[in-house]
Amino acid sequence: MKVCKFGGSSLADANQIRKVCEIILADPQRRAVVVSAPGKRYNRDTKVTDLLIALANAIISGYDGSRELDAVVSRFSLIIDDLHLDEGLTETIANDIQNRVNSYDGNRNLFLDTMKAAGEDNCAKLVAAYLNEIGEDAIYVNLLETGFYLTNDYGHVKVLPETYDNIYRLNKHNEVLIFPGFFGFNKKGEILTFSRGGSDITGSIIAAALRASIYENWTDVDNVYSVNPNLVKDPHPIKEITYDEMRELAYAGFTVLHEEALEPAVRRNIPVNIRNTNNPEADGTQIVSKRTNYDGILTGIAGKKGFVVLHLSKYLMNGEVGFALKVLQILADLHIPFDHMPSGIDSLSIVMREEDFNSDKEKIVIDRLKNELKVDEVHVQRNVSIVMIVGAAMSQTVGVTSRACGALSHSGINIEFIVQGASEISIMFGIKEAFCNYAVQALYHEFYPF
Ligand code: ASP
Repeated sequence: MKVCKFGGSSLADANQIRKVCEIILADPQRRAVVVSAPGKRYNRDTKVTDLLIALANAIISGYDGSRELDAVVSRFSLIIDDLHLDEGLTETIANDIQNRVNSYDGNRNLFLDTMKAAGEDNCAKLVAAYLNEIGEDAIYVNLLETGFYLTNDYGHVKVLPETYDNIYRLNKHNEVLIFPGFFGFNKKGEILTFSRGGSDITGSIIAAALRASIYENWTDVDNVYSVNPNLVKDPHPIKEITYDEMRELAYAGFTVLHEEALEPAVRRNIPVNIRNTNNPEADGTQIVSKRTNYDGILTGIAGKKGFVVLHLSKYLMNGEVGFALKVLQILADLHIPFDHMPSGIDSLSIVMREEDFNSDKEKIVIDRLKNELKVDEVHVQRNVSIVMIVGAAMSQTVGVTSRACGALSHSGINIEFIVQGASEISIMFGIKEAFCNYAVQALYHEFYPF
């Protein structure tokens, strides 16, 4: 069986929902479907999730929120009318959202997640109703009754292992199962959501739990492209990519799939197929554990801004036992995660994310490095980006770093640092943010010359 997840743009209006249901009906193996909340119908439109956040914030701020409530309900009722579904469904959805509003008891985080989840939950009811209407046996899956449990860790939820068995039990159903994405429950039965775009994670969990032959992730592009299509005209499409390559590119800014969405599929070795709801004829991109074909040295190039680097040096550092440990302990004391740590003989650079290292933390860290570790020099560099070239074929190819460095130098771009992980499937260049996009373009033209 196949598990299909449809993103917000695939469900933005009645017409899109018709396309989604045609895709479901076109293949009898598509037995489980995960839906996002209706997304944007046009560029400046607002996603239902954002309308729900506005509603939640209005209530939290003490307003009655009736204007915001109307905006949400009318998005659903418009779709229900256009699909000629029973008007009772609009009432069911309006009541559901009103009940969520009424549940506010001062716990903001819980309330925000409860409201955000209303988008996918009601969209799943709607899609199931439309499939029934056109003669397909489909049921909406209630995630609380099913036991879709998450850790009780607001903002960082993870799926609990028992969830997989609970979902597997749904296997006995003959109907097409319509799951809402993006949220689950803690053991108290309270709603928690994944981070934005998290329906991708739900889809992957369901595919793993139901032991699907494939996880189809339906979105609005024909392929994952080897570079951000806003930076390069007609970029090279990726037909096949490994989980590891995708993970690296997602880290550096590829946004087609949520960063955490691969893990459940990887655990059960389920291929992920990115497809286009607006062009179902296209084969899309296959994300697999091992590739069978390579159509170039690189698979993709990505750039991400928002990094900060702490540079420190101390004479004879390399001989001082436990030095790096003490540096990292200072960061750990302040709950600062780090991403990379390129080093020299007597110097160390620590690459962190801007949001984790504000100026207060910077001051404390620098004082402690000077006073406790007696470093000779320490300074902080902000506005740094990471530009990454990724390719499983790279480790067997001579001269990739030389070509990449040459391309950057010909464009007059200075490299702040280079990191190559042990996996040898990627090389990262630290580049000043102002040159991030130029660096991506320069590298693309070097490795994809036609
Ligand atoms: N609707 C949620 C969002 O807009 C989750 C998702 O679409 O995956 O982020």
